[in-house]
Amino acid sequence: MKPLLRWVLDSLLPPSCLACDTPVEKEGQFCLGCFKAANFITAPFCRICGVPMPYVMGEECEGCATHKPAFTQARAALRYDETAKRLILPLKYADHTEAVKGLAELMRRPGEALLQTANLLVPVPLHPTRLRARRFNQAALLAIALARLTGRPVAVDALQRTRPTQPLEGFGAARRREELEGAFALSLDSGISGKRVLLIDDVMTSGATANACATALLAGGAARVDVLTAARVSDPRFEQLGLA
Ligand SMILES: [Zn+2]
Ligand SMILES: [Zn+2]
Repeated sequence: MKPLLRWVLDSLLPPSCLACDTPVEKEGQFCLGCFKAANFITAPFCRICGVPMPYVMGEECEGCATHKPAFTQARAALRYDETAKRLILPLKYADHTEAVKGLAELMRRPGEALLQTANLLVPVPLHPTRLRARRFNQAALLAIALARLTGRPVAVDALQRTRPTQPLEGFGAARRREELEGAFALSLDSGISGKRVLLIDDVMTSGATANACATALLAGGAARVDVLTAARVSDPRFEQLGLA
């Protein structure tokens, strides 16, 4: 939509909820119904990867206990369920960027400690062919919005995809690692040496992508890498048990 037309419409219509068409007071808010339906991640969760746990099962999840990830901590605002999908999917497939600011606001609280200590925000990159198809990288939009909210510096192009990768759904952990091996590299002037980097993405699924990015950042001299995402997929083992 043309910016002027958007401005005219925005000034005529009340802002609507981030996840539905219900009018709300301020842009970037949930309506009451969606706020109640949204599954914010609360304790207990894994101290390292942030995966929600059905009950206190120790400090770390089984995955982190067996394969410690390259990143130090990962946190997310929402469980990736139907409400979170309604918020996030339009970012991927349409020019629907007004949800970005609202999502960044939601990421602030779970990411508070990580945002405070981060020297640099870096989005998970898309491969250029996918970027051309979608025209923008939703992780970069979130990183820029978070940088605006917090005053943290952002380096949108610090990390790059060296080749396209297949969707990781249905792959086991070893196959996912193999698919992502060497898929990320730093740009020449990434400026990450000695920095505490906060990696930003929309959804964390298995953590394999975040792990591969963190590995590349640490190899390039980052002092520490943490991860902040809008949503987090629950552990499928807990879902099968009906516990997540
Ligand atoms: Zn709503
Ligand atoms: Zn974990």
